[in-house]
Amino acid sequence: MRSNVYLVGAGSSWALIDTGGRACAVSIRTAADVVFGADVPAAAIVLTHHHPDHSGSARELARVWRCPVYFHADELPLTSGEIAALGRYANPLDRWLILPLLRILPPSRREAMLAEGSLSDVAVALDPDGEPPGLPGWLCVPTPGHTPGHVAFFRPSDRVLITGDAIVTVNLNSPVGLLQRPRPCPPPRYSTWNWRQATDSAAALALLEPRVLAGGHGPPLAGPVLAAGLHALADGLDDAGAHETSRRARPAGQPRHGPLAPMPAPEKKRSRIGHAVLGLSAIGYPLTQATIRRFGVRGAVVVEAACVGLLIRDGFLLAAGTPRRLRHLPAALLWLETGVAAAAVAAGIRPLLAPAALERAARKHSSGSETIRRSAIRILFALHTLRFRIYLQPDRGRRPASP
Ligand SMILES: [Zn+2]
Repeated sequence: MRSNVYLVGAGSSWALIDTGGRACAVSIRTAADVVFGADVPAAAIVLTHHHPDHSGSARELARVWRCPVYFHADELPLTSGEIAALGRYANPLDRWLILPLLRILPPSRREAMLAEGSLSDVAVALDPDGEPPGLPGWLCVPTPGHTPGHVAFFRPSDRVLITGDAIVTVNLNSPVGLLQRPRPCPPPRYSTWNWRQATDSAAALALLEPRVLAGGHGPPLAGPVLAAGLHALADGLDDAGAHETSRRARPAGQPRHGPLAPMPAPEKKRSRIGHAVLGLSAIGYPLTQATIRRFGVRGAVVVEAACVGLLIRDGFLLAAGTPRRLRHLPAALLWLETGVAAAAVAAGIRPLLAPAALERAARKHSSGSETIRRSAIRILFALHTLRFRIYLQPDRGRRPASP
């Protein structure tokens, strides 16, 4: 998953906010050479949070530039590379995929992988009340939720706000949303530790009314698109139940959304559609089999048309570059779904060309292509269901026992 990094100049020095994935060190150094001149190391590396797509190159860059990597103190347990910390602050992706995979690995391999992701030897705690290192004129804004020690950075002089994953400008919670124009969006649920805190933090950031918003994913936004989008985001979060704490966070006397114009909030409606798709997907396989049993060849034509429809949709999402904007698991699921949909379509065409064979196969379950078709449809709906469950994951996060 591609993420943004920000090279922020301050007089003759500069600081790096976020470091991208593990393969980004060379391109960041090249960009820094172009912008600030060769051999001008960053004064500091400051991370919004410890996720591999934001902190992946931190160790290598810290080694090259001989500078520390700053995190909020509440994020430091995650930098330790200990499986207990990963479990304590697990997000849905960690709970469902990463931790189960780590637990079945041989201990030596597991330790090696965790040690690779550890930044404990270079990580230093930020002073959340002071000026962030290497960023004069900026403020550190604690925005817990996506991770326990997530932070954003705000420069009041020109109202530039760098949000990490507290607010992103591409909707990572819906495959439909990914095709929409960039706008301020909450973080992806499947990689968010505590959804309630995350929505409170996003609402608090919206109240800062930035002139420029630069998120961890998606293009930076400015102007009327940003103002209207922040208003819609805040309203959507209010609808989702985050309003109580966001109101508490609002300074007394300040209007709820400042001078922004009213905008409708689409989040609730989209969530309802998502849950309807999830329900339909969960009963997809028995529904297709019942359709074929009940309506014979005509039912098989309907099922084949549905598979072709899913294949076209997946092909469209792939052509639009959707997997690049998804995190690893949903992107992998989308690729898998496309392959399985193609197999289901291919296996469904042959019996349709010879309806007598279909009738025989449906009775005896003995045809090879029929077996492939059934298996492909079963897997297709299972993958689809899993992907939508990730998008619609409810808040299961907890506050840490000792932050
Ligand atoms: Zn993240």
